[in-house]
Amino acid sequence: YPSDNIRNFSIIAHVDHGKSTLADRLLELTGTIRKGHGQPQYLDKLQVERERGITVKAQTATMFHTHKFLDSDKDFLLNLIDTPGHVDFSYEVSRSLAACQGALLVVDAAQGVQAQTVANFYLAFESNLAIIPVINKIDQPTADPDRVKAQLKSMFDLDPSDALLTSAKTGQGLEQVLPAVIERIPPPPGKSTSPLRMLLLDSYYDEYKGVICHVAVVDGALHKGDKISSAATGQSYEVSDVGILHPELVPTGVLLTGQVGFMVSGMRSTKEARIGDTLHHTRTVIQPLPGFKPAKHMVFSGLYPADGSDFEALNHAIERLTCNDASVSVTKESSTALGLGFRCGFLGLLHMDVFHQRLEQEHGAHVISTVPTVPYIFEYSDGSKVEVQNPAALPSNPKNRLTACWEPTVIATIIIPSEYVGSVITLCAERRGEQLEYSFVDSQRAFMKYRMPLREIVVDFYNELKSITSGYASFDYEDSEYQSSDLVKLDILLNGQPVDAMATIVHKSKAPRVGRELVEKLKKFIDRQMFEIIIQAAIGTKVIARETLSAMRKNVLAKCYGGDITRKKKLLEKQKEGKKRMKRVGSVDIPQEAFHELLKVS
Ligand code: GDP
Ligand code: MG
Repeated sequence: YPSDNIRNFSIIAHVDHGKSTLADRLLELTGTIRKGHGQPQYLDKLQVERERGITVKAQTATMFHTHKFLDSDKDFLLNLIDTPGHVDFSYEVSRSLAACQGALLVVDAAQGVQAQTVANFYLAFESNLAIIPVINKIDQPTADPDRVKAQLKSMFDLDPSDALLTSAKTGQGLEQVLPAVIERIPPPPGKSTSPLRMLLLDSYYDEYKGVICHVAVVDGALHKGDKISSAATGQSYEVSDVGILHPELVPTGVLLTGQVGFMVSGMRSTKEARIGDTLHHTRTVIQPLPGFKPAKHMVFSGLYPADGSDFEALNHAIERLTCNDASVSVTKESSTALGLGFRCGFLGLLHMDVFHQRLEQEHGAHVISTVPTVPYIFEYSDGSKVEVQNPAALPSNPKNRLTACWEPTVIATIIIPSEYVGSVITLCAERRGEQLEYSFVDSQRAFMKYRMPLREIVVDFYNELKSITSGYASFDYEDSEYQSSDLVKLDILLNGQPVDAMATIVHKSKAPRVGRELVEKLKKFIDRQMFEIIIQAAIGTKVIARETLSAMRKNVLAKCYGGDITRKKKLLEKQKEGKKRMKRVGSVDIPQEAFHELLKVS
């Protein structure tokens, strides 16, 4: 396949507009997967992806298609790169787009342009991709393709006559998609005569083959047996296997200019496979390709084994999982309250949730996670600045040592039906947002941009936004600058002892309310124990909220009235089950849910 007969494209869309279903249909149309065979959303391989109906890892598939082009039938090799739809994973979107020359911009014919449609459009537009608008789900009774065409024109200046109308469900209009890909998207621009340069797109660990890299060959060609080097690390490797993703690994022995495929090269861990790195033949000098936006960790949380003895098991599970998700950062930490654990950095809250779920489902680990925090910057009186990823690391009485602090902000994009504008403006103001733009998508939908502290988004913002708009709001954000801010450390004390794992950093104006809510939540979720428990929230030495949980003798067997032994056993069993997810802090047992509930206090 000369590169003239190759097309590399991606499908981008707001979540649920039908990317994965459309990808399935294209794979079936080209005979890459059998129709009605296997599960839907073929490319969503992870269990969490199927359960949550979202795409987390971007996947690639190569398809073959014959098309009449310039008056004769030609065979084309089409590389489809599916992208994740959720805001947390826009990093994966930009990574996928770096290997593409075009994108199908899928928009739901009933819902119209949504926040991630806007975000993804700009990612593609800034990468100079050819954009093919696809208005999908035209089979729905509420579909209004003309309205969507008008939105595409007014928001993105896309020509309405370029839009394809499809239903990935009924198959209507799908026959126009691949011809449009071939005719409207340019072939990859690389030079076959230049030295090899390839972009490392993704990597994962396979128990049998070792590290498998997804690569896009930009210039030159990659053959099995080649010696290659990383531009980032200078490390060299020998290529032991190379081929295409069809969508299973199919060895071909070679990848030519413009092709996307896999490569195995004896890397020992995915940490050696740096996403965005340029790989080249050893001993040839090349100019590295522009890497793409590196993953930025927006949210940090401590992960601890739910019962103290399991540290090694958790360590092992985290190591295995990060083999496949290089976008998580992990450092060991210890907490006086929780013992040995890890501080992990995530791209966002959903990313964090997915990581937890995968730890539990795929690796059987039981974890307690601490309140997520964003990376703050503090300046000490000697002028040194530190990034604080763990509130516990900050001195509790900082007055004399800290001179200034900054917090990360994001630019949030919100699209809502016009009737919700008032309540959304109120919510954003509560969250310390600053309005940057307020306009209209069309007569029924408003478009707003806000600068907001990242912390305000991290804590349950999206859920609240959805609930005040009956689920109609769509939302996306991109990271922006740090702003100076009046921050304080809020300690939680149980019977006078600060619990380091429950410390948070909050804006001074919010501290009294957050402190109050935290102690009330804790009172609700901590069971009464044999002794009285005093729960306090404090800034430095000043207590700002306090609750008392009175003592109670708890004995499940008391309910048994002596008799039935099997019932007794069952109750004991049940109590043990409950205990698994407990953590003893000092002398107080705290259930996992108590930690979890703290996440929702803003
Ligand atoms: P993604 O989040 O963009 O990958 O969206 P999915 O492909 O997972 O689709 C979301 C939901 O919309 C699924 O329940 C699909 O079955 C459904 N869906 C996809 N395409 C169509 C379509 O053309 N018509 C209708 N009625 N439903 C569709
Ligand atoms: Mg999907």
